[in-house]
Amino acid sequence: MRRVSVFGATGSIGESTFDLLMRQGGPERYRTIALTGGRNIARLAEMARALQAEIAVTAHDELLPDLRAALAGSGVTVAAGAAALLEVADRPADWVMSGIVGAAGLAPGFRALRHGGTLALANKESLVTAGPLLLAEAARHKARILPVDSEHSAIFQALAGEDITAVERIILTASGGALRDWPLERLQHATVAEALAHPNWSMGPRITIDSASMFNKALEVIETREYFGVAPEQVEVIIHPESIIHSMVGFRDGAIMAHLGVADMRHAIGYALNWPSREALPVARLDFAGLTRLSFRAPDDIRYPALRLAREVMALRGGAGAVFNAAKEIALDHFIAGGIGFADMAAVVEDTLAAQSRESGLGNAPGSLEDVLAIDHLARRIATGIAETLARRRAG
Ligand code: NAD
Ligand code: MG
Repeated sequence: MRRVSVFGATGSIGESTFDLLMRQGGPERYRTIALTGGRNIARLAEMARALQAEIAVTAHDELLPDLRAALAGSGVTVAAGAAALLEVADRPADWVMSGIVGAAGLAPGFRALRHGGTLALANKESLVTAGPLLLAEAARHKARILPVDSEHSAIFQALAGEDITAVERIILTASGGALRDWPLERLQHATVAEALAHPNWSMGPRITIDSASMFNKALEVIETREYFGVAPEQVEVIIHPESIIHSMVGFRDGAIMAHLGVADMRHAIGYALNWPSREALPVARLDFAGLTRLSFRAPDDIRYPALRLAREVMALRGGAGAVFNAAKEIALDHFIAGGIGFADMAAVVEDTLAAQSRESGLGNAPGSLEDVLAIDHLARRIATGIAETLARRRAG
C-alpha cells in the first residue's frame, strides 16, 4: 500500500487532498502515516479517523488535550507543536502533500525529502525561500518534487516529453484577484473582506489576499524560476480574468502549449497524486460552447509593485527570496489585523528588502536550512518594525 502523509490537512489544499484520497479508495488503498493541522481539531480528528492515520498532529501545543479527546479510542496517535511537525516528517512515506501555508511549511517538507519519495509541493514558499537547497536535498535523496500550484502543474504538464532547452518563455496567467477592476486610488482603502472576494478560485485566506495584491503571482514567478531553472526574463505574467488557461509554455519554434480547465485545485493535486499516470478526477469539464471569451491584459507595474519586487529578488538571489517572503507574511498579518492599508503591504516588503540588504547584504546564498530560517527571522523583525511605524503614522 502506498504510504501518504498530508501536512496542512485541514486547509484548503489539505481538504482537496483528503477528498481525493477518500474518493480514490481511502484506507483500503492508502496507508496514511501523518495528518497535520492547526486549530480545527474536530476536522483533523474526523480526517484521521476516516483515513485511519497513524498519527495526527496539531501545530498548537495547548490543543493537545483536545486532540487526544477527539481521537480517544480511534487508535490514532496524537502529538502537538512545531517539533512534532518535524518528527512526523521523519516517518517514511511514499507521497507527502506539503500543504502548510507560509514559511512554516518549509522545514517539514524539507525533512520529508529524506525518504526519497514524492513531495507534492503546494507550499510555494519553500521554493521562494530555499529553492536551490530544496532541489539539492531532493537530488541527494533521489526524492521527487511535483508542483501542485495550478500554474506550475500546468507548466509541468506542458513540458512533458519536451526538452527544457527548447523553451523560450513561460507565461503565468493571473486572475488579477478580487480588486483587479478597482480604480487605483481606491486600492489603499480596500478592506480585508473585499480582498478576500476572489472571483474564480476558492482558496485559503492568505493566498486569496495575496492574489488581490499580486504577491501570490510574484511568489509564483520566483517559484517558476527556481523549479524549472529558467532565466528570470523568460518568465512572463499575463492577466487572464477567466482563469481558464492555467499557464503556458512557449518554445523556440514559436509553438505555445497551454493548459486549460476549470478552476479546481483537485486537478493539480490529483495529477501529482497519480503521476505518472492519469486517473479520472471529479473536476467539472470545460464546456467550450459555453465559454463566452478568453481575455488577456498586461499587468500594470504601478498597480502591482509586487511583480517589480519579484524581479528585484530574482536579480539579487541569495537570501532575497527568504526576506521577500517573510516581509510579505508580516505585511499581510498587519493588513489583516487592520494596522496598515492594502497598498502599504508592498511598501513594507520593499523597505524590508532595502534595510536587510544594507544591514547584512542579501547576495550570499544561504548554505543550509538553518541559514534560511535565520534570514527569515531577521526579516520578520525588520518588517514588523516597519509595519508598526506605518501603522502608527496611519493612526496618528
Ligand atoms: P489554508 O490556510 O487553507 O491552510 C493552511 C494549513 O496549514 C492548515 O491546515 C493550517 O492549520 C496549517 N498551518 C497554518 N499555519 C501553520 C503553522 N504555523 N504551522 C503548521 N501548520 C500551519 O492554506 P491553503 O490555501 O490550503 O494553502 C496552503 C499552501 O498551498 C500555501 O503555501 C499556498 O500558497 C499553496 N497553494 C494553495 C492553493 C489553494 O487553492 N488554496 C493553490 C496553490 C497553492
Ligand atoms: Mg497558483
